[in-house]
Amino acid sequence: MTNDYDVVISGAGLAGCTAAILFARRGVRVALLERRSDPHAYKLLCTHSITANAHPVLDELGLIPELEKAGALHNDARWYTRWGWIEPRSAPRGPALPHGYNVRRSTLDPLIRSRAARTPGVDLLLGHRVTGLVREAGRTVGVRTSTPQGDVTIRARLVVGADGKDSAVAKFAEVPTKVHENTRFGYLAHFRDLPLHGGIGQTWFLEPDMAYAFPNDDGVTVLAVLPDKKRLPAFRNDLEGSFLEFVRALPEAPPIDSAERITKFIGTVDYPLLTRDPTAPGIALVGDAALTGDPLWGVGCGWAFQSAQWLVDAVGPPAAPAPAPPPPPPRGGAPRPPPPRGPPPQ
Ligand SMILES: Cc1cc2nc3c(=O)[nH]c(=O)nc-3n(C[C@H](O)[C@H](O)[C@H](O)COP(=O)(O)OP(=O)(O)OC[C@H]3O[C@@H](n4cnc5c(N)ncnc54)[C@H](O)[C@@H]3O)c2cc1C
Repeated sequence: MTNDYDVVISGAGLAGCTAAILFARRGVRVALLERRSDPHAYKLLCTHSITANAHPVLDELGLIPELEKAGALHNDARWYTRWGWIEPRSAPRGPALPHGYNVRRSTLDPLIRSRAARTPGVDLLLGHRVTGLVREAGRTVGVRTSTPQGDVTIRARLVVGADGKDSAVAKFAEVPTKVHENTRFGYLAHFRDLPLHGGIGQTWFLEPDMAYAFPNDDGVTVLAVLPDKKRLPAFRNDLEGSFLEFVRALPEAPPIDSAERITKFIGTVDYPLLTRDPTAPGIALVGDAALTGDPLWGVGCGWAFQSAQWLVDAVGPPAAPAPAPPPPPPRGGAPRPPPPRGPPPQ
């Protein structure tokens, strides 16, 4: 079976849904493919503090009222450094500081995916895993997917890899990747009844160790520790004990012993940082697929939103279908010039 779209996007995470919605609003026909079948699936390994650079994108997507209704909190924070606490504040009578949001991925991911599914021009195809690329004359012209109903080939003028750090699109296109070592490991869990100083996020730079805690929707606080890898063998021996001991030792530590842990400890012991060429003939990468940064900075979601918006701003018009040809000139009249049209996306 062959389907034809203007753009096919691999991955219905933050970057993929953003690109799909914004492309479709420019008249582009989009196939948004997601390997998981559950529309409520969400990314587990994330502490979901979304930086302020995402705010204009969330605004353009029209998601801010829905996010605030769902309990997303402004991501104000204070930062512990070797010089003491840094607490950003707006100048007296100055404008408010820009802000992003703290909102759990279990809230955010289904919300943006359902917005993408409801956007005219987007076909959200769940349970579609990209398993290969279709290439013609040195250019990618579509994807092969595996679905519960069998294999499906989908052709498009542009293939977008928004499929995360281990991007299938980048792998099949053999996009050059630079790999940088991450010298820390990380664990996180979610808690109730864990109040934070000032009711805002706390970030501890302990050089080389690191930790942070953010309040989120529904009264849930996420707490993460990112110690130096040298501590890993001892840490792993007693994960819960080590996590609690690490938190108790933080300056102005939150009262972890009276809090209720509501999720498992999850983590990563090897999380290399990746930089890929973001384009190849017929292909563009956005979000983690293009650049997987250090979770320490909590910038990946903001990057996913913003890089998707940049892509659509750059190639949205040429990716849209050509306008219908004008009617033929009246008999004896001068021929009309063809309508203006941008070059096909590279
Ligand atoms: C421990 C940790 C903490 C973090 N904390 C923060 C934080 O506080 N703030 C922040 O901004 N960032 C944080 N990040 C980073 C953030 O989670 C990512 O940068 C962000 O989720 C990237 O979004 P994305 O849409 O590019 O990719 P993803 O969220 O990974 O989405 C990719 C999508 O593609 C789908 N997919 C994958 N392969 C295929 C395929 N073959 N076919 C079809 N679909 C496919 C996946 O199922 C998924 O839905 C953290 C990361 C880690 C590891």
